[in-house]
Amino acid sequence: MFIKQVIIEGFKSYKEQVATEEFSNKVNCVVGANGSGKSNFFHAIRFVLSDIYQNLRSEDRHALLHEGAGHQVVSAFVEIVFDNSDNRFPVDKEEIRLRRTVGLKKDDYFLDGKHITKGEVMNLLESAGFSRANPYYVVQQGKIASLTLMKDIERLDLLKEIGGTRVYEERRRESLRI
Ligand code: ATP
Ligand code: MG
Repeated sequence: MFIKQVIIEGFKSYKEQVATEEFSNKVNCVVGANGSGKSNFFHAIRFVLSDIYQNLRSEDRHALLHEGAGHQVVSAFVEIVFDNSDNRFPVDKEEIRLRRTVGLKKDDYFLDGKHITKGEVMNLLESAGFSRANPYYVVQQGKIASLTLMKDIERLDLLKEIGGTRVYEERRRESLRI
């Protein structure tokens, strides 16, 4: 499984719709002049995949929506197209599209065009090995050092998340509670 394409519209510096070329399943480079939107591109990916942009307040929404020449767009979206030929996502499809939209008042998720809840997205991502609390797939500055300094129990939690098993522990806990 890998990110095949990213489509962005109205998000931060991306006013018009931009769709990347198809990415390789090996190494891809994002290059561009200062201020051209490289960091915003990675923010866009994390906007869909991690839970750092949750419980958005009004000012957070304004910061995410493109604003230029005194005009602010009222909605934006980021769509990530995954190559799922290895069925890492437990869905019988070669390709899946996960889109998150944001407006001035609400934000929503769509899987292949169908509205799904945030909980469903997080479960789907976690069963494919995406970690919620530690989005290890975006290696930010200082991250390598913090991984080496983690406590054993924290590292075990991370491994459970990467292995996609923590979601089952959570579901078990939830079902025992009922
Ligand atoms: P560098 O090489 O300096 O790291 P970069 O390619 O990472 O640059 P970004 O940080 O992604 O660039 O983009 C910065 C630009 O995005 C700034 O010009 C900023 O004004 C613009 N920007 C951020 N949020 C918005 C927004 N909501 N509306 C319009 N422009 C925005
Ligand atoms: Mg940058």
